[in-house]
Amino acid sequence: MLLRVREVGLCGTDREISAFEYGSPPPGSDRLILGHESLAEVVEVGRRVHSLHPGDLVVAIVRRPCPDAECRPCRAGRSDFCITGHFTERGIKQADGFLAEYALDDEEYLVKVPRPLADVAVLIEPLTVVSKAAVQARAILDRLPYEPGLQRGLVLGAGPVGLLGAMVLVANGFETVVYSREPEGGDKSTLVQSLGASYVSAASQPIETLAEKTGEFDVILEAVGFAPVMMAAPRLLRPNGVVVLTGIPADGAATEIVVGRSLRDLVLKNQAIFGTVNAGRRDYLSTIQQLEQFMTLFPDSVRKLITQRRPLGEAVRMLTDGGGIKNVVQLHPRAA
Ligand SMILES: [Zn+2]
Ligand SMILES: [Zn+2]
Repeated sequence: MLLRVREVGLCGTDREISAFEYGSPPPGSDRLILGHESLAEVVEVGRRVHSLHPGDLVVAIVRRPCPDAECRPCRAGRSDFCITGHFTERGIKQADGFLAEYALDDEEYLVKVPRPLADVAVLIEPLTVVSKAAVQARAILDRLPYEPGLQRGLVLGAGPVGLLGAMVLVANGFETVVYSREPEGGDKSTLVQSLGASYVSAASQPIETLAEKTGEFDVILEAVGFAPVMMAAPRLLRPNGVVVLTGIPADGAATEIVVGRSLRDLVLKNQAIFGTVNAGRRDYLSTIQQLEQFMTLFPDSVRKLITQRRPLGEAVRMLTDGGGIKNVVQLHPRAA
């Protein structure tokens, strides 16, 4: 399929790749085209393509299966659970991304996006990470042999993944708190409050004593990738609760914790900690439904996640300046 790329979202992963801390080019190439958070329009399809047509809007699944016949997750279409590590990722690992005017891809890695979502569809890829995390956390919570009642959720970090995570928690009826570095009363805390969640700044409340102020939580979604915060999270859990880790800390990051007490708590309180990365096709499909729900519940807050849209020439500046929530490179603004 030939795709005309409309928009590409930038994130911390792109920044790390640009700093040569992460990622790798396709075999035999000395460069990698960035761009894993895509939104594109189908221009032309091959003879054997049936489900998509020219003019359709699509988002590409980032991770692609490894070639190993023994890799059951990849053979089952769930390369996000690949066990060999030989998968590729478009725009990240050994495969070019979508930060280009045109791109080629296969039908099986593209997910059709409903037109009404076009102006926020660049958020689908980061939201898939949260949707998958939610499905996995739900599976763990479903082990509980009783009705939990009103559940409380905590999000650590107010970047795009954290804020999308807060939306998922709120939409699922959780009483939700977001904890991040930005001051209370700032843009992010206003956005969090617009969802019906509350915001606590790390500037006014150390994480170690956060639960004294807010109470404990049934689900904690970590989206900061800072080891001391990640290790502090289990201490904020209610009995039977679950911590979901999505941030990627620096290799070699060290922090001091009293392991005896942490491990003891995990056992005596039936708690769970798990990590999650990437997402499969099913997560992309549920993400689209989730985003449609968000656009009914809090459309303005969703739109505010996209801080700026700029042409390709400004991509480098947006990557290096950072700032804002989600910065987007606009390649082809609308259907030609
Ligand atoms: Zn990303
Ligand atoms: Zn695999």
